[in-house]
Amino acid sequence: SDHQLEYPLSPAHMDWSSHYPAFVDADPSKTNLAGARKLTKDVEVVDIGCGFGGLLIGLAPLLPETLMVGKYYSVQDLGSHETYTYIIPGMEIRISVLEYVTSRIQALRAQQHRLKAAAASQNPEAATAEVNKAAEETNGGAQQAEDAGTMTSIIPGNYENVAGIRSNTMKFLTNFFGHHQLSKIFICFPDPHFKARKHKARIVSESLNAEYAYVLRPGGLLYTITDVEEYHYWVLRHFQYGTDEDGEAERKVGGIKDLWERVSDEELEADPCVQVMKFETEESKKVTRNGGNKYVAVFRRKPDPAWV
Ligand code: SAM
Repeated sequence: SDHQLEYPLSPAHMDWSSHYPAFVDADPSKTNLAGARKLTKDVEVVDIGCGFGGLLIGLAPLLPETLMVGKYYSVQDLGSHETYTYIIPGMEIRISVLEYVTSRIQALRAQQHRLKAAAASQNPEAATAEVNKAAEETNGGAQQAEDAGTMTSIIPGNYENVAGIRSNTMKFLTNFFGHHQLSKIFICFPDPHFKARKHKARIVSESLNAEYAYVLRPGGLLYTITDVEEYHYWVLRHFQYGTDEDGEAERKVGGIKDLWERVSDEELEADPCVQVMKFETEESKKVTRNGGNKYVAVFRRKPDPAWV
């Protein structure tokens, strides 16, 4: 329950440094309101309900400048690209799941470290041995590592830019993130809470959408995916104006929905984040195996209208 949940007093009190040690600012005098060391850049992306971390790991190497997914750099062409990775926290409420994702990311970071050291040693045999070891460490060995696409390559950011953080985002999102801080929010396969009396536990709702609009900057994107058709329509109803039961058009002014517009399918096709969402989260893989449908809806945060 909540008394076991740690959360910062405000975003200016959040200690990100322990989660992203590779991004801590070299200047020790740069500290936040809680006295924690600052990072070299702000957190801009969040995965809400990250589960076992598939999205984090898939997004880790994405570069905002080139936005190329699936392209992994050799040590030689890493160069300056390395500094462009997003810092991405995955928020997760369940302790055991959080522990799993944390140790998974720690292992990936250590593996990247060893691969880099081997590559830098200019010793091709050592480098090959490290790659093979990395493949073996992945359950199922080299083939699965290849399928995962990440395990045996040096990737931008070396997974130093992703971490799991324990939180109940339904209660504490704005303790972690300030006004207009974020440029992307991901909500992948949220718990469906099928029964009507459980709908208030859904992570998409009128009041939570107002919080998402608060932390997302104008132009920023909120990504959703679900395999539950009814939940997809619930999402659409909560972000878009529609018609009521009598077929009357909803009044279109002064509501939270004024702050959102749906992103077109054409635009999404060119967005590599959508591919990660559809195919790399653990839940998406389960849905693929079971032959289920995946419903994607992405909304752009519009500028604040005059009434704000
Ligand atoms: N996004 C992952 C994926 O696509 O594989 C996990 C999906 S799983 C069905 C939903 C996750 O959201 C669970 O791991 C659950 O513990 C987490 N969750 C539910 N409510 C939450 C909350 N209020 N704050 C943080 N995480 C939450």
